[in-house]
Amino acid sequence: MKSRQLASRFSAAFTVLSTTQSPTAWAFQPALSNHSFGSRMSSTRVPKFEIAQFPCRSDNYGFLLHDPATGNTCAIDTPCATSYKKVLDEKGWKLTHILNTHRHYDHVDGNLELKTEGVTIIGPKNERKEIPGIDTKVGGGEELELGSFKAQVLEAGGHTDGHVAFYFPELSVIFAGDCLFSLGCGKMFEGTPTQFWSSLETMRSLPDETMVYCAHEYTESNGKFALSVEPNNQVLIDRMAVVKQKRARGAATVPTVLGEEKKANPFLRGDISEEIQQNVGITATDSPAEAFGKIRKAKDNF
Ligand SMILES: [Zn+2]
Repeated sequence: MKSRQLASRFSAAFTVLSTTQSPTAWAFQPALSNHSFGSRMSSTRVPKFEIAQFPCRSDNYGFLLHDPATGNTCAIDTPCATSYKKVLDEKGWKLTHILNTHRHYDHVDGNLELKTEGVTIIGPKNERKEIPGIDTKVGGGEELELGSFKAQVLEAGGHTDGHVAFYFPELSVIFAGDCLFSLGCGKMFEGTPTQFWSSLETMRSLPDETMVYCAHEYTESNGKFALSVEPNNQVLIDRMAVVKQKRARGAATVPTVLGEEKKANPFLRGDISEEIQQNVGITATDSPAEAFGKIRKAKDNF
């Protein structure tokens, strides 16, 4: 399919917007030419939805997922209330849900200010005491009805112990918080390599076309480490060239496409890339979780 046709289909059912204090600096272009949405977009059963993506704080992204059919609007994390309010006002959307991935302040800071009448806050049950205003506690395995589509809650511990992710299978979208990043993963503050690897392996098992909305713009620095452990990965080399161009003009590198992460993100490749195994000292007796742990440690020392 030619990119123009693809773009036309894409915009018909799926609109990604960037709304910022400085729109020209953050003009966001989905990388349509690099990724296939064909199978998903050709289905008439795909619900229409809209995602607004905008920068918050120094390097967080804010996300609002809007369902035009019901008017439901979900905030995914709340790094800063002001930016969310501004986008809600501009779009004329009414917030109905806040989905918190984990308890860190740059993910829940705007909860109480945004929690007006009719807003339900859903967050990790293991971190409920530190999720301001939480109503519904989830730990993974739940299915949430959010407007005309559903979200599956995935256990995503490792960065924090109770971290969860929100996967929308009908939309081929996952909000991964600080678990999976573009070309990287979150720091392992609390979890174990086994726990973190289990979270990442679950995400790796999702379909290639899944769009990964991660919470920070870390791709360029993540990519430097990725290249240090897998310098001959041509997919990674090509990807980093695009990332550098995008960042040079202030464009976002989020969302990313899961299929591309599988080919280039070292934290999804410790059990399959001999080059990473050699460079990080992974041995034949290491389990995939132990391999992940060694890569995570190498990144911490990078
Ligand atoms: Zn965090």
